[in-house]
Parts: sequence; C-alpha cells; structure tokens
Amino acid sequence: MMRVAFIGLGDIGRPMAGHLATRFELAVWSRTRVKVEAFVQSRNAIAASSPAEAAAGAHVLVTCLPTSAEVEEVLFAGGAVQKLDRAALVIDCTSGDPATSRSIAARLLEREIGFVDAPVSGGVAGAEAGKLTVMCGGTDSDVQRAKPVLDAFASKIVHCGGVGAGHAVKAANQALLAVHIWATGEVLAALTKAGVDPALALEVINASSGRSNASQNLIPERVLSREFPRTFRLALLDKDVGIALAMARETGTAAPFTELAARLFAAARSELGEEADHVEAVRLIEREAGAEIRSGHGSPHQAPSSEP
Ligand code: NDP
Repeated sequence: MMRVAFIGLGDIGRPMAGHLATRFELAVWSRTRVKVEAFVQSRNAIAASSPAEAAAGAHVLVTCLPTSAEVEEVLFAGGAVQKLDRAALVIDCTSGDPATSRSIAARLLEREIGFVDAPVSGGVAGAEAGKLTVMCGGTDSDVQRAKPVLDAFASKIVHCGGVGAGHAVKAANQALLAVHIWATGEVLAALTKAGVDPALALEVINASSGRSNASQNLIPERVLSREFPRTFRLALLDKDVGIALAMARETGTAAPFTELAARLFAAARSELGEEADHVEAVRLIEREAGAEIRSGHGSPHQAPSSEP
C-alpha cells in the first residue's frame, strides 16, 4: 500500500488527512502534539514525533501549512526531505506563493524528488465532505502521480500549469473572495442604515447579478446569524491577498481592487488578531457604519436611523 505522510493538522488539514487515512498507510505530524494524538485516536494513522519521522519511507509527503515559509522550514530545516526516498513526491496543499514554490521544487529536484503545488478551495465543509477543488502546478507526470492522493479529498482537480501555477490561481481566487466579502458587507451596511432589512436585500441580490459566494453563503450563514464561526483565519486571507498583490506587481498589472483589498484586510487583521475568522472583517465595516448587519434590522417599516 502507498505510504503517505501528512504535515499540518490545522482547520482544513485535519479533515483532508482524515480522508487520506481511509485509503493509504498514513503518518501524521503537526506542530502541536495534542492535535496529533487526538487525530490518531479515532483514525487508522501513525503519530510521528517530527516531520522527518513522518517522512521516513513515505512515497508521498503532503504539506498543509499557513504559508510557503513554514513549508520550506518543515521540509529542509525540519529534516523531512533527507528522509524521503528518491523519486518521492511532495504535494503542497498550502495556499503558498509561486516564487517560493519554484525555489522549493528546484531544491527537491536535486534529490530527484517531485513537487506539485496543490492548494485547495471549498473550505472546511468541503474538506469534511471530500469535495474540495484542487488547483495544481507541476509537470504532467508529477500531477498524474499526485491525482490518486488528491482524489481522496477532491471532487475537482485542475492542472493549471507549471510549478507555482496552482498557488497563483488560488491567490487570484482569494483576492476575489476578499473583494466580495468587503463589497457585500459595505452595501448591506448602507442598506441597513437606509431602513432595508439585509435579509430581504440578500433575497434580491442572490436572485440578481450582484450575487457571490459571500452574498449567497458566507454573509447569510455567518453575519446575519451573528455566529461568525472560525473556519478560515482572517490572517490567512490577508496573506493570500498579499500574494495576489505581489503577483500583480511582478507582472506589471494595474490592480487597484487587489491593492485596496490588501490594505483593508491587513487593517482588519491588525484590529481583530490572528485567531479571527475571515468573515469577521465585516465587523470593521459595521463599526465604521455604526450599524449591525442582522436579520430583521433596517425593516422598511421603521424610519431610517439617524445614529452614526
Ligand atoms: P491553520 O492555521 O488552522 O493550521 C495551520 C497548520 O500549520 C497547523 O497544523 C499548525 O500546527 C501548522 N503550523 C503553523 N505554524 C507552523 C510552524 N512554524 N511550523 C510548523 N507547523 C506550523 O490553517 P488552515 O488549516 O486553515 O490552513 C492551512 C492552509 O490551507 C493555509 O495556507 C490556508 O490559507 C489554506 N486554506 C485554508 C482553508 C480553510 O478553510 N481553513 C481553505 C483553503 C485553503 P498546529 O496547529 O499543530 O500548531
């Protein structure tokens, strides 16, 4: 049976690794020991005490860490690469940056180890359901080798180009996500203050051309309900928008929306901290507007508030 090592049991890594445990001989490592112990308690997997121990004898090593910097650290300083067999494959599911991935791939190639950047989308719910979309960067043969592993948690796999192409597409998607969250939040804050119930406004928008995942799912489920669950940290979205902005600059592409999103999400991160969820950025809009976006507020039967 193929041996797989998985590194990074975070919000999304944990359910992804859960699917791998049902198909492969799996060893897991995460920085926080209790997470590893909790994972192996209920699944058929080996708890490794270091990245190197997880990598020993693995045919495929999967990483799912906050940024490419941690991937580099775990692979090279953490000793994982030295333990991998020649002709092994590293699949990086981190939403990383294309330039660092190209440098990692070149270093791995010196040892004949392949590399595929394979960031995911679909959120924690998609990971739990095994229905993530995966966007890959790498050679045809490496992406073909990665597919049986990715199939364990993906319902769609797209080969976007050479190493770094998956990370580039992911960053672009994330810039759009950030723009949609902020833009939808600000129009709903204005509507609320104008006396319109935001739930009714969304009923219209979601049957019209202004709709997005933010308007259809994120804001109704998390903002109107005031639940704001933590599934994807705001700090990570801030990182993603920064990657998109760097890509725009490197390619000499004017990107005023990405620039503004980068500024707004960096401010939200410094205001709300490292553990806040990405949708909580809407709290900044609400504070500024002096109005909460919640169902039943701004009823058209009430006079518009003159409060700030
Ligand atoms: P989390 O912050 O929940 O988890 C990150 C993981 O990285 C944890 O396992 C953590 O270890 C580990 N880690 C953090 N710092 C270090 C370090 N210095 N050295 C070694 N390990 C470290 O992130 P997510 O799981 O949410 O996200 C992982 C990646 O997937 C990110 O790039 C993110 O942008 C992307 N992503 C996330 C989605 C989501 O919905 N959450 C959706 C799509 C992509 P430990 O917890 O054990 O301390």
